[in-house]
Order: sequence, then structure tokens, then C-alpha cells
Amino acid sequence: MNLQAITPGMDKDEQEHRRELCVAGAWLCERAFVVATDGNLSLRIGENRVLTSPTGMSKGMLAPADLVVTDLDGSRLEGHRAPSSELQMHLAIYRRRPDIRAICHAHPPVATGFAAAGMALDKALLAESILDLEFIPVAPYATPGTLDLADSLRPLVTQYNAILLANHGVVTFGPDLLTAFFRMETTEHIARVTLVTELLGHQVLLSNRDVERLLASRNRPCKGTADAPTRARTAESPAEEETPRDRRQLEVLLAEALRSLNDRP
Ligand SMILES: [Zn+2]
Repeated sequence: MNLQAITPGMDKDEQEHRRELCVAGAWLCERAFVVATDGNLSLRIGENRVLTSPTGMSKGMLAPADLVVTDLDGSRLEGHRAPSSELQMHLAIYRRRPDIRAICHAHPPVATGFAAAGMALDKALLAESILDLEFIPVAPYATPGTLDLADSLRPLVTQYNAILLANHGVVTFGPDLLTAFFRMETTEHIARVTLVTELLGHQVLLSNRDVERLLASRNRPCKGTADAPTRARTAESPAEEETPRDRRQLEVLLAEALRSLNDRP
């Protein structure tokens, strides 16, 4: 068996879940999605059993025996370590989304940069990303490790599978560990490509028709609402409001234009 593998699905015994959670922790470190003891992972392995990483350990150094089992109220059932400091966020997601069986929380630097800038990843820039994570919102800031963080996600959890946490990081979730992990990778990839287009100063968004055809190809209807749109900004979307950075750039351009006018003979 490939010791570095995570297989799709949840049909496996607890030892296998423990091994795979450790592999996912190592992958988070290898990809620099976490540093030091950051990040946490969990799996819902039973109706009232959640397997989670412990607090205070590097996710790249986990052994199966380090993991902790709690119930859905957060009481420890098994394990000699304290559970993840973000356990309440994980439990809040499991309580609201019975379809979710795995959660991945990390601080990938580019996506976290967007979170720190308060900028959602909400543009129809990448065809393949539209199919799974069309719209990645930003949850308002809340202190890490508190119930406030779980509360800040509450309005978003039912409609999205990847959420930026303002001034903090990213949480992704899915029906199994591989899906939750891939969504973390995809979120960071979307953030990197978005950043490159921002640096280039030019973005060509897909049209409404392009997005509809993509969604139709996978038979995936749009489930958004006015309050929580899942539909990304397309070529036809109204222009974005001017950002403070845009204003600063405008001031620089105006100053240069005035200087060049004054320099004229
Ligand atoms: Zn965190």
C-alpha cells in the first residue's frame, strides 16, 4: 500500500482514518499551507464521533496515536492530548452540514493574504475552478479559537465549501478528507492566479454564458441567494466599487499629469 495515499470516500476503519489524517497534515506542511503548529484537520467518523488533530503540534509531525476523538459537543472521548483549538469551528460546521465528513483549516499565504485584505475570491477567472468553488466568500473577523469564530461562519456554511477567514486563514470542507484537502489546494491556486492577474493589471472574466455552459456541463445548478451569492462575478457584472488602492493610484496619476502640465513651456 502507498503509505502517502489518501483515498476518496469514508468507507474505512478508524485506523485508516487516523493514518490518512496524518498524511493530510504532512501535505499541508509540504505545501507551506501551515507553519509552526498552525492549522487543524478533522473527520466525522461516526454520528457522534469526530477525529481531530491535537492542539500545539506541527501538522507535519502527527502520529495516529496523537489524534483525539470527541463527541459533537466537544467532549473528549479518546486520546491523551487536548483537541484542536479550533474544534468549535469544526463542530459548528458538522452540526449545520450533515453531508460534511471532513474539514481542513490552514493558513496558505496567498489566500490568507486575500483574507487579510478582506477580498473574496469571487471572480470568474478560471474555468475549472468554477465547477467546484465558484465563489469563495470572506467571513468577518473573529478571534481564533473562540465561539465567535464559529458564529462568524454560520451564515456562510450552508452555501459554500471554502471560506476565507478575515485576518486569519481558510477553512474548506467536503464529504471526505481528499475532497476537503483538494478544496484547500484549489483555493490557494485561485488566489495565486487572481494575484497574478492583479499584478498584471488586467483581468478577463468569463461571461455569464461561459459560466452557465460550464455549470450545465456538470449538471450543477446555481444555489445562491441575494444575501449569499454563489455566482462569481462575470464579464457582465457591474464594475466593482473603487477601492482605496485605486484611489491612491489615481492620485499618483493625477499628480504626474499635473506635473507634466506644469513642466510644459
Ligand atoms: Zn487558524
